[in-house]
Amino acid sequence: MKSSLFLGFLLLTAGLTSCDKKGPSPASSSPQPALSLGDQSAAQSIASSAYKHTEKILSFGHRQPESVGLTRSKRYVIEQLKQAGWISIEQKFTAKTPKGPMTFSNIIARYSPDGNNTVWSRPPKAVIGAHIDSKILPNFLGADDAASCVATNIALAQYFQTKHPEVARELELVFFDGEEAVGENMVYGKDGLYGSMYYSRTVQKAVAQQSVPYKQKPKFGIVLDMIGHKNLDIKIPADTPRRLKKSYDQARKKLKLEKHFSHSNGSFLDDHVPMNEIARIPTIDLIGDFSSNKWWHTSGDNLDLISPKSLEMSIHLTLEILADQISH
Ligand SMILES: [Zn+2]
Repeated sequence: MKSSLFLGFLLLTAGLTSCDKKGPSPASSSPQPALSLGDQSAAQSIASSAYKHTEKILSFGHRQPESVGLTRSKRYVIEQLKQAGWISIEQKFTAKTPKGPMTFSNIIARYSPDGNNTVWSRPPKAVIGAHIDSKILPNFLGADDAASCVATNIALAQYFQTKHPEVARELELVFFDGEEAVGENMVYGKDGLYGSMYYSRTVQKAVAQQSVPYKQKPKFGIVLDMIGHKNLDIKIPADTPRRLKKSYDQARKKLKLEKHFSHSNGSFLDDHVPMNEIARIPTIDLIGDFSSNKWWHTSGDNLDLISPKSLEMSIHLTLEILADQISH
């Protein structure tokens, strides 16, 4: 995570709003029966698994760009996903950074229980993303920012394999590299969000050319960032696309989680911005409040901060948003 830069007057929001208006579901249509992807006990079980994956990822050390810990974490993700019937590609690229050219790679996974590569020819309906890198800081592991989110993506992949393979087939999981700025602060287009920008440009180009693996644009995206803090305080940015904000509000109300899930008055830079602006995939950023917390980007962001209960709440809410969006 991210710079607390405000994005100003948000032409983006205007664009996304008008985009939403072109959506296939008129507001007056009667609601379809709600799809259920899991109750609290399912969320608890996924969270328990996510906590264990978090421990494992942190055992590899920091995940700074081009580091051994990052490479080991990526191998772990690919292997865990493979065991759960997901196949991955590594999207490698080099980007100019304030410290010179650096090599990054996103991991992109789709569900293919028989290992068949034809899954890449069918566009996904939804994307769930989390950043796998950790910021270049001394003694910084980034447990909340964002190892536990990577871990949650793995746990969701395993859960969908066993409980909802039909939903797994509609998803793409993305593990963004280079989310963190190499310098101190994130500057859009100049430092940080390297992986999500590269991914979003790839989607944009493929959609424009009607080519695989995105003959069509995914319908929506969910970015997870800092979702497991013991004092959970998720505040979604003000530039959240309207229809996702609606799903979020419905879910937090239904689950009685308003205390932990609210709205930020401002917008900030995170992986959802390229997704919204470049790929034009309406994307919500479920992001913990970092601005007022002393542990953010310090050595204090370690496993001690991570709470299985917080993961459970975030996962439960994610399942609700996913169910609502997928069924429309
Ligand atoms: Zn960060």
